[in-house]
Amino acid sequence: MEVAETISRMKTLRQGTAGSVGFVPTMGYLHEGHLSLVKQAKAENSTAVVSIFVNPTQFGPMEDFKAYPRDIERDLDLLRAVNTDIVFMPSHEEMYPSGFSAWVEVHKFTDHLECKSRPGHFKGVTTVVAKLFNIVEPTRAYFGQKDAQQALVIQKMASDLNMNLEIIVSPTVRESNGLAMSSRNTYLNPQERKAATILFKVLTRAHQMREKGETKAERLRQEMLSLISKEPLVTIDYVSIADAQTLEELNEIDRPALVSMAVRIGRTRLIDNIILK
Ligand code: AMP
Repeated sequence: MEVAETISRMKTLRQGTAGSVGFVPTMGYLHEGHLSLVKQAKAENSTAVVSIFVNPTQFGPMEDFKAYPRDIERDLDLLRAVNTDIVFMPSHEEMYPSGFSAWVEVHKFTDHLECKSRPGHFKGVTTVVAKLFNIVEPTRAYFGQKDAQQALVIQKMASDLNMNLEIIVSPTVRESNGLAMSSRNTYLNPQERKAATILFKVLTRAHQMREKGETKAERLRQEMLSLISKEPLVTIDYVSIADAQTLEELNEIDRPALVSMAVRIGRTRLIDNIILK
């Protein structure tokens, strides 16, 4: 496994590859959710590239950029174990040299869900992902359904800017109790971790109601809010039942719907979602 710490080294390694390149951008502190994307990238391409970069421009001023968990040695061991070919881990100075002033912004999907609590977040995401795509030049890039809105925004960026790659979105990997894997789960104490299982329970409840024939989004939303309110450690940021393609809120569930939510448990903000087909 090659580790490139500079952009020029990454570009040199890229020039030396033959065949397709599968790319998984991450912020590190890897878990099975990330590794499932890497395994898929490796299985579907000649070369698997993973980036580890905690991107400062996607964190708000009051967010956890400084506290974001980091453990590079452990990450490299995990990536070696799944046969990653190249790890790209640039410094902040490499990615954002002084005077940096170009931004990539998508103006669709960015009035919804995450945007109210995290203004500017997706501008940071699209800018760094566009830079990473230019540096790594992947054939395919892999993203998790866990960050459903992010996946839609990136697909829109790639399509509108004619980026020469395929975006692949893969299922959310969960712990056995249903909790979606996330680097931020490490912030949770045991009591909070138990409380966090409410997210998947609530999403599962929405799924069951839909399966039984309920089509009124408001009924699902009320049931979800009522279930969450029974968990005293959890405060709700949003609960949404939206068109899975446009993210417009639905009244009637008459098309594929993205049921998504964000909550705070102590100082930790968690998101999760499912698609109702
Ligand atoms: P992050 O390091 O949190 O920026 O995530 C890097 C990539 O891994 C993103 O495409 C995420 O959507 C994806 N990812 C994070 N958690 C999971 C999960 N539990 N299952 C599947 N993909 C995930």
